[in-house]
Amino acid sequence: MPNFECHVGVSGIASALAVALGGATMGWDSTTSSLAFLAGLSGGFIPDLDHDDSKPLRMAGALAGVGCSAAVVGYVTSPGSFLNRPWPTGSALLAAVGAYFLFNTIAIEIFKRRTKHRGLFHSLAVPFLYGGLWAVMVASAGGKTVMAVWLLGILGVFTHLVLDAGKSMSFNPLKVASDDIGASTRLWVLTTLVNFLAFTRLTF
Ligand SMILES: [Zn+2]
Repeated sequence: MPNFECHVGVSGIASALAVALGGATMGWDSTTSSLAFLAGLSGGFIPDLDHDDSKPLRMAGALAGVGCSAAVVGYVTSPGSFLNRPWPTGSALLAAVGAYFLFNTIAIEIFKRRTKHRGLFHSLAVPFLYGGLWAVMVASAGGKTVMAVWLLGILGVFTHLVLDAGKSMSFNPLKVASDDIGASTRLWVLTTLVNFLAFTRLTF
């Protein structure tokens, strides 16, 4: 299987090309291009967070906590009638800390019980989940940036899945779900919710 350097090398090259293309055809500025490049580059190693040993597991838990926490803050600080938004800073901070611990714990439990290497994290939901999380995190930066990080996040994770598929001569990493239908369903529901959240808050 391709190692970390190989994955990051390929996602880095693909992201650089995509960012150059975005700059030329869609007028991405330097902030948008940098964020998009980061989303694409990091997407190249995200699926391997489902390794069995504990360090990537803790990283994955932290990542899930931070992502969900950012999504919660983005949501409660945006105006809207549901939940009487926007919330004041203190309440938003409490919500962020709460969301971090809640989703960190849930994520680690799910990863521990459900994943094996090249299981759930190597399914076709993950590119969209990763792109969606980036889109939610940069929601305040405007529509162009949201689209850019969404596209590059998806591209980065795709390079990983395609590389794994090519190296193992099997389409296994490109499957839509893992053997665990319950966990796969939750992953797709989460992916749909995150993307819905990202795009309903999109303003150009
Ligand atoms: Zn992999």
